[in-house]
Amino acid sequence: MAVRPIVIWPDPRLREPTRPVAEVTDEIRALYRDLVDTMYAYDGVGIAAIQIGVPLRMFLIDATVAGRGGGDPVAFINPEIVSVSGEKEKSDEGCLSFPGIYVAIERPHRARLAATGLDAAAFEAEGAGLFARAMLHEHDHLTGKLLVDFVGPLKKRQIRRKLERQAEPAAGHVHGEDCDHDHDHGDRAHTGTLARAGRSNL
Ligand SMILES: [Zn+2]
Repeated sequence: MAVRPIVIWPDPRLREPTRPVAEVTDEIRALYRDLVDTMYAYDGVGIAAIQIGVPLRMFLIDATVAGRGGGDPVAFINPEIVSVSGEKEKSDEGCLSFPGIYVAIERPHRARLAATGLDAAAFEAEGAGLFARAMLHEHDHLTGKLLVDFVGPLKKRQIRRKLERQAEPAAGHVHGEDCDHDHDHGDRAHTGTLARAGRSNL
């Protein structure tokens, strides 16, 4: 079990094609545990394997968000979208690969996905609100679709500048109250504290 580094946009690895998981092996179960540790270390409620640089079709959703009342995060292996509602909902969305960035995105209010679980059994999950949003956000990661694909070119440049500032090496200057960057000096594990109520990192 280990916390793995999160791949931050615009790292091209986030656009890599993903491969299906052939079989739920010990390796996949180890990947699941690393994803759990990493998701919680960075205050996420969902994470896709490609966000730690593993281009497999697999993601996790926090059990509370998934309506299971707590427990281990739910693994979605080789997920497919079965259906989405015509009714839509706009809400701020964060992503572990865009620390501190939130984008208002309109998505279907409900979604139903089919997937394989960590026990290798097929299952379907239907959710509304944040659960639907989380499933669709993570499914987007498997097709290389990211938050910045929902915004215009100006906003995209702003996001790039902000992330580039955050990525600057700490050695350049002495950090202090006058720093214009708004995160905890090189430690991305703290970015979750930037999340406001109702905003979730996926
Ligand atoms: Zn994400």
